[in-house]
Amino acid sequence: MTRSAIRVRFAPSPTGMFHVGGARSALYNWAVARQSAGTFVLRVEDTDTARNSPEWTAGIIRALETIGISASDPAFEGPYFQSDNVARHREAALQLHVAALAYYCDCTRDQVRERTGSEHSGYDGFCRERGLESGENRALRFRTPDHGHTLVADAIRGRTSFPNSAIEDFLLARGDGSPLFLLANVVDDVDEDVTHVIRGEEHLPNTPKQQLLWEALGSAPPQWAHLPVIVNEKRQKLSKRRDKLALEDYLADGFLAEAMVNYLMLLGWGPGDDREILPYAEMERLFRIEDVNPAPAFFDVRKLTAFNGEYIRALSAEAFAEACAPWLVEPYAPWPPEAFDAKVFAAVAPLAQTRLALLSQITEQVDFLFLDRPVFDEASWAKAMKQDAAALLGDVRSAYTSVPWREDELKSVLTAVGGRHGLRLGKAQAPVRVAVTGRTVGLPLFESLELLGRERTLKRLDEALERIRRPHRAFHHDQDLEEEQM
Ligand code: GLU
Repeated sequence: MTRSAIRVRFAPSPTGMFHVGGARSALYNWAVARQSAGTFVLRVEDTDTARNSPEWTAGIIRALETIGISASDPAFEGPYFQSDNVARHREAALQLHVAALAYYCDCTRDQVRERTGSEHSGYDGFCRERGLESGENRALRFRTPDHGHTLVADAIRGRTSFPNSAIEDFLLARGDGSPLFLLANVVDDVDEDVTHVIRGEEHLPNTPKQQLLWEALGSAPPQWAHLPVIVNEKRQKLSKRRDKLALEDYLADGFLAEAMVNYLMLLGWGPGDDREILPYAEMERLFRIEDVNPAPAFFDVRKLTAFNGEYIRALSAEAFAEACAPWLVEPYAPWPPEAFDAKVFAAVAPLAQTRLALLSQITEQVDFLFLDRPVFDEASWAKAMKQDAAALLGDVRSAYTSVPWREDELKSVLTAVGGRHGLRLGKAQAPVRVAVTGRTVGLPLFESLELLGRERTLKRLDEALERIRRPHRAFHHDQDLEEEQM
């Protein structure tokens, strides 16, 4: 490896579901690595054993794979596990102590608070010159330079100078000798020859401290880049309690991974023209970390949904069918598995494909084709089945008994029958649609009827007429049946 090669890293802590924010960081790192024939290191920061679990690590690797960050790609290196490097972290701590760049400290939190009179003023340097040796309950602190400035160069935010006097003597290791985040994170970055640290802006306060550590360990600091915070529609930072965060939850709701990738790439960056929907490969080529906007990025679920619709429409017929597959079986599909007919689905799929915003919507778009009787949406029923609906449905039923079973014929018959009832086609369709599909909105009606077939359509019109006439019985049909069987 040449020193000039770009090496980025993604360093998640496996303490929960993989979030969209993490996905964006990973994607930006991936783009930087791939466009420069560099390396993307996956480092799992798993030293917080109380909060980690191998399950979360597996989830991260799986999620990365879903968004195209594949361990089999030559740009990918790792995963490395921070917990494997603890001996190195301790060694670095010792090295810093020997060089007088760190000192031991036995102050308790309460003592510091008493002396400084505040919880938040940071460490007061009490042990700086006490020359304590290592020992039980002695934590190790970094000795921040007394004078001068630390100049942090951030590719997105420009250069910021921090007076060293304002940076506290921060902790490197606990009283039991176990390394802390700032130390472990930097030692690993140094050892892994990381050249660019691209991460969320919540780490900004750590950066001057970490840069001092890089220098103290004898290495030139990396290029920093802190990505903008992601906010919801109320301009609040996305949070587990308020917002849906897990990438997997979005996928389970019927978002396509490709649409997620496209949308996440645009959370703080754009290709520089007015295009928004563009293939990942092109975004990867155009992406420049310097072009990322430091302003908070609004995670607009409506826009993401619109992207998803575009991506769904762009799928080939086969890819669409494949993408829908999980929603055509249990637990999503309300029909019995044997009722599913792949040929009927293939015929209806193109009609549905242009109308879905989420893949999960496919189930209710097509359920009327595979169920014995439609699932009635009561609000739709109430809206469509006004007083004259029965007369209209009765006439449609008679006319449909003999009409050639083709969508154009079905349409002209309904136009004519509707006309006799003083209804335009749009109005006349509503009760028929609800009778047959259970809902007021759905796929184009006449194509749907053609697919459903004459026999089933007539049966549903009869059942709807029965339901209008005897709402109580019809509404409780299944229950009555069960009672009769008992
Ligand atoms: N493990 C840290 C986190 O999950 C990442 C630190 C970093 O990227 O430097 O936030």
